[in-house]
Parts: sequence; C-alpha cells; structure tokens
Amino acid sequence: MRTPLVAGNWKMHKTPSEARVWFNEFLDELGGVPPGVEVALLPSFPLLPVAAEELAGSGVAFGAQDVSAHDWGAFTGEVSAYQVADLGAKYAVVGHSERRKYWREGSGLVAEKAKRALEAGLVPILCVGEELEVRERGEAIPFVVGQLLDSLAGVEPPSPDRLVIAYEPVWAIGTGKTATPGDAEVMAEAIRSALAGRYGEAFAGEVRVLYGGSIKPANFAQILAGPNVDGGLVGGASLEVASFAELVRLAVGL
Ligand code: PEP
Repeated sequence: MRTPLVAGNWKMHKTPSEARVWFNEFLDELGGVPPGVEVALLPSFPLLPVAAEELAGSGVAFGAQDVSAHDWGAFTGEVSAYQVADLGAKYAVVGHSERRKYWREGSGLVAEKAKRALEAGLVPILCVGEELEVRERGEAIPFVVGQLLDSLAGVEPPSPDRLVIAYEPVWAIGTGKTATPGDAEVMAEAIRSALAGRYGEAFAGEVRVLYGGSIKPANFAQILAGPNVDGGLVGGASLEVASFAELVRLAVGL
C-alpha cells in the first residue's frame, strides 16, 4: 500500500519571514494532515531552518531542492545532505529538470547526489522527464527509462520507502500544459517496471512514483486516478496556501 505524497517545490521563492507566515497559515488551513496522505514542502536552503521550527510536530515533512554530490569539504556554495538532514529534513530533490537544464547536471551527477542523500538519511526525490521534441518523436518512454536507470547507477536504497521517483515532463513544468492522465499513468507504469528490473518486483511495487508538471486543483484528481501515480510534485500551485491545501485534500478524495 503506497501512501500518496504531495510535495511542494517552492523553487527560488519566498523569504524566511514569508515562509514562516505561510507555514502557519497552511497548518491552520489544513487543520492537521488528513489520514492517508503524506505532505512535504521543499523550500530553498535558507528557509529550511524555518520549516524545521514551524512544521515541528505538525506531521508535514520538509526537504531540500538539491544537495551536493560531495559529503563535506572545500566546495564553496554547495550544501551537504548531512547539513540538510541535521535540520530534521526528510527529503532531497535530485535531478530536477531545471538543474539538469540550467546547470547541465547529467544523470551520473544526479546518481552521486542520490547516494549522498541516502547516506545522510534523506529520501531522494529523483526527477526524470523528457523534452517536448523527444515526446513528439515517440521516444518518451525509452528516454525516461534510460534517464532513470542512469540516475540510479550505484544507488541502493535500503527499502522502497527510501526512494521517490518524480516523472516531470520538461514541457509541462511551469507552462500550464499538463500530461494527459493517460500519458502520466503510462509513464508511471513504465518507470515502475524499470524499477522492478533494477530492484525487483516487490521493491518496485512499494516505491512511490509522482507526477509533476502544472498540477493544479482542477487537474489533480484525474492525474491521481492512474493506479501507478502516487501523488504530485507541485511547483506553482504550492506557493499559495489555498491551492496547496486543496491538492492535499484531493489526494485523499476529500
Ligand atoms: C516542478 O517544478 O517540479 C513543477 C512541477 O512545477 P510546476 O508545478 O509549476 O509545473
């Protein structure tokens, strides 16, 4: 039984003081995490201590949007997975398409980041997804499966709850375009079957596979209807308390 995860990727938005207000308003609005869903917020690094303080005891998890491929050392500007974990974070996104695109992060680097996250006790949320021209060529599934397996090279999660995969078609991120629920399900199923080849059927059956890309309250229920889609990685719609709280309620059919 996979508990759906609704994770909000704030990207480079909000100050620490804005985050403090947001967390409080969100907890008031939600009135407690409903049973049957997990909720996580992924703010930028300077906001993580605020998340740790304000979300403590609420049942809402938090995590980072990236971690270094190195554990410690002379790597100016990098943030260690151990630093993030020490704050009480649960998750770290690795391989988000914005990092793959703007910082040219390849799947080998993403795999190193996933390993450091696991070593530090974090759960990597590993993102994969194709560009529009790849989909138009009809190559989306082999591309995403290849990217997934390359990004998992040497990555050995000790249990299926220590890995989350997010399928995020690049053309759907921040564009208002969403994959059809059918396309999201077909890709989630292909991802799960690749995970079965990599880690075994039982393991793959328990790993959560999220969809991400212009999720909003108006489309989330249909996307979640796919039996292999276990929640959402949400950018824009996680910035407003009302829309993010609504997504959480939708994830449990409230
Ligand atoms: C994301 O950044 O992971 C994302 C899915 O963004 P958006 O929901 O804004 O498309």
